[in-house]
Amino acid sequence: MAGEQADGAPRDDCLFCKIVAGQIPATIVRETTTTVAFRDINPQAPTHVLVIPKAHYRDAAVLATAAPSLAADLLREAQAVADEDKLESYRIVFNTGSGAGQTVWHAHAHILGGRGLQWPPG
Ligand code: 5GP
Ligand code: ZN
Repeated sequence: MAGEQADGAPRDDCLFCKIVAGQIPATIVRETTTTVAFRDINPQAPTHVLVIPKAHYRDAAVLATAAPSLAADLLREAQAVADEDKLESYRIVFNTGSGAGQTVWHAHAHILGGRGLQWPPG
């Protein structure tokens, strides 16, 4: 996106940057040097964890272009979260753009599991 920040620098106005910085509490389930995983405040399934890069990118598309190895880190952490919650099946969702339901503009993967999941999603 033209003019879009893609250097990974933290943003003062970003909720998830504040969680990374420890300025807003979250139930953190995993942390690596590059990622944090924490439980969603409004869970849509028994397991609903958000995996985010510590660096700020506005959405998955910007992340994948600017920092592809970091995007891979999120997928690896998604599997680790699923393993910790003993999920045989789970869904990884990257809402990308407001029309798809993105409300927080810091890239994040939703990890959903622990119940049957319908397809197609709403
Ligand atoms: P999006 O709609 O952007 O794909 O997902 C944002 C997610 O962040 C939502 O599922 C929402 O429930 C979650 N969320 C919003 N604010 C907070 C918060 O302060 N703490 C946590 N843990 N999750 C949040
Ligand atoms: Zn951020």
